[in-house]
Amino acid sequence: HAKAHGRGRSSVFDFSMESDQLDQYLLERDLGEAIEQDELSLVFQPKVDLVTRRVVGMEALVRWNHPSRGQTPPAVFIPLAERSDQIVRIDRWVMRQALQAQAHWRDQGLPTLPVSVNLSMADILSTNVVDYLGALLDEFNVPASALEIEVTESAVMRELTRTRNVLAALNTRGIGTALDDFGTGFSSLSYLRQLPLQSIKIDQSFTLSMLQDSNAETLTQAIVAMGVALKMLVVAEGVETEQQMDWLMEHGCHLGQGFFFSPPVSGDDIHAVIRNIELRLASAAPASLSQ
Ligand code: C2E
Ligand code: MG
Ligand code: MG
Ligand code: MG
Repeated sequence: HAKAHGRGRSSVFDFSMESDQLDQYLLERDLGEAIEQDELSLVFQPKVDLVTRRVVGMEALVRWNHPSRGQTPPAVFIPLAERSDQIVRIDRWVMRQALQAQAHWRDQGLPTLPVSVNLSMADILSTNVVDYLGALLDEFNVPASALEIEVTESAVMRELTRTRNVLAALNTRGIGTALDDFGTGFSSLSYLRQLPLQSIKIDQSFTLSMLQDSNAETLTQAIVAMGVALKMLVVAEGVETEQQMDWLMEHGCHLGQGFFFSPPVSGDDIHAVIRNIELRLASAAPASLSQ
């Protein structure tokens, strides 16, 4: 809002807008060195099967510990990276780290759960992303089934044909694909059924409001039904309460992800967190599950 306001008064020199631009410029410059300076890291958030109450996968999310600002959220630096062409380099670093983590956990004798990685539009459009991922799987000797790619609905809709081709090539290589932040873009049903996707992730704005707002509840129900009808795995993001988990399970949503289960945690902690979630959910599971 501050920006829109500043633009409206563009004939007047606006200090707040200037400092905003300077700030973005400085952040963008620092981001260019974040990988070399070892300031990026990955955290992992479990995805839980709502019926069996087992953890069946996890999402890798990038973190930036800026030398003077401290933790800087992806909501701030990912859009900046996307605007400044740095996103492909960052996401390739993320893909490599995620598969390296998989290899590390395997070497420790831990069970392999699929890890999802978020790709931006520029990654999809970059020439050899599928080859890059294939080479990484070979290098770390990790099966393709241990990797999943998430692309946002808005990105897919902007470049439908090319995205469809890349998603299909990922599937051919054995890599699963998911549509992220579903419900916030404007994909029509006919587009959706043309896309080679195994899962849709309902945007957290639906999950967070569905028990307060009957319109959101109706919409969430419709989205779940649509995903099920298209034979996709339906994942709800932003599950923060037991009530939300119960509602989602009762309405046929397959998986949940959110603070109710666990916030994203480090690779060193994720397997202990998974064990604790499964213990906690097993003791709270409805009686029908033990029949
Ligand atoms: P996303 O892919 O939809 O990831 C889910 C976001 O929701 C994460 O925020 C996660 O921490 C947050 N979240 C998880 N559970 C809950 C919950 O119960 N309640 C609420 N309110 N939030 C929850 P995060 O980590 O800040 O990431 C934000 C977005 O940044 C991601 O949204 C994704 O679009 C982007 N992003 C993160 N890592 C990467 C990356 O490596 N590459 C790319 N291209 N984008 C990334
Ligand atoms: Mg995601
Ligand atoms: Mg999402
Ligand atoms: Mg999101």
